[in-house]
Amino acid sequence: MKYYSTNGKAPIATLEKAVVKGLAEDKGLYMPERIKTLPQEFFDNIQNLSFQEIAYTVADAFFGEDVPAEDLKKIVYDTLAFDCPCVKVTDSIYSLELFHGPTLAFKDVGARFMARLLQYYTRKASETSKNSLVNVLVATSGDTGSAVANGFLGVDGIHVYVLYPKGKVSPIQECQFTTLGQNITAVEVDGVFDDCQALVKNAFMDADLNAHMKLTSANSINVARFLPQAFYYFYAYAQMKKKGLADQLVVCVPSGNFGNICSALFGKKMGLPIKRFIAANNANDIFFNYLQTGKYEPKASVQTIANAMDVGDPSNFARVYELYGKSHEAICADISGATYKDEQIAETIREVKAETGYVCDPHGACGYRALKEGLKAGEVGVFLETAHPAKFKSTVDGILGADIEIPAKLQAFMKGTKQSVPMNKDFASFKQFLMEQ
Ligand SMILES: *Cc1c(COP(=O)(O)O)cnc(C)c1O
Repeated sequence: MKYYSTNGKAPIATLEKAVVKGLAEDKGLYMPERIKTLPQEFFDNIQNLSFQEIAYTVADAFFGEDVPAEDLKKIVYDTLAFDCPCVKVTDSIYSLELFHGPTLAFKDVGARFMARLLQYYTRKASETSKNSLVNVLVATSGDTGSAVANGFLGVDGIHVYVLYPKGKVSPIQECQFTTLGQNITAVEVDGVFDDCQALVKNAFMDADLNAHMKLTSANSINVARFLPQAFYYFYAYAQMKKKGLADQLVVCVPSGNFGNICSALFGKKMGLPIKRFIAANNANDIFFNYLQTGKYEPKASVQTIANAMDVGDPSNFARVYELYGKSHEAICADISGATYKDEQIAETIREVKAETGYVCDPHGACGYRALKEGLKAGEVGVFLETAHPAKFKSTVDGILGADIEIPAKLQAFMKGTKQSVPMNKDFASFKQFLMEQ
């Protein structure tokens, strides 16, 4: 399979190039040239397949031409060493719990897949050249950093730099990538998430740096991170079908950089029978406004209690736009939007807990609320519970007046010592730092 750039000015790339480079030369995002439709028998029988079996079928459609079956199967099975159950919250609303992985957020899926695919390629490269060390640069507003750092921890031939905005990620998130050591370096940037993302993007475009070291991105723009997220939408459908609830399925995705919902839309193109999608936003309402006006107008991000969605210029909008032939009408036919202020998110967390006993994290709460407000008669909704509420413990505790339990996996990170490199937000300092590595 070949990959082209959404900006249309870069050469067509192989999967290896798309994964190792991350971003195309023209700053566009890579898109697979073809999206295969999966056969009807697959969907007829999907409720009888395991998560890994479903995921391998989806992975094969994208990566099967490039990665030998045995390697791909191992990558998929190793990635999905945990479950993503659909849990009933009300009669018509289910939670797809994506927090059962090592860092308790959905990004574990894409990060683990990418680490394993990149390792497959660096191993191949090390057979032919000496300097095969790959440096992964990743900007995070919280969860990406922990998922990527843990996905790559201890992987030979790969060094990871995690850039995060100083004081803007929760202490629990921070310890998940600043305490690891080994091949993981945390860089604490005096700025906001968009500054971190700009540093990473500039690094990829800088000729001196690229001559000095092999750089790649592990942001949700990387095809090896975003495409595997499609796995759990197929699995959610399978679980709902088993319950007899999949005929008019609406899937609601709490969205920031729009990688997650974009992979769902790829799933729909492959034939996954989901009726429609809702993109739930916090106060960063750029996509919501686009749906209303047809104009995409990025702005500076604003800080909210659902901070993994504090994105003012969602990268993957370019992919959504491309996928729908740049048609606002076509996009609106499949996707609607919602936007919630912090008070509404807090109110929702309290309401769901009081009415159902279920504890949502601030991101999942946006998803739940958008379904509650947006489901029509006969529809059943699944929202993505994108992280465990304990990852946002102080926020959720404050809202519920409770002391929610921290899972053992999370407690283990909190015992480590923080190590990070302080950095200001101008590119010159970051470049100098990397040139000295
Ligand atoms: C990253 C993240 C999101 C947003 O996902 P995108 O793919 O950037 O849209 C939502 N919730 C949580 C908990 C996240 O970590």
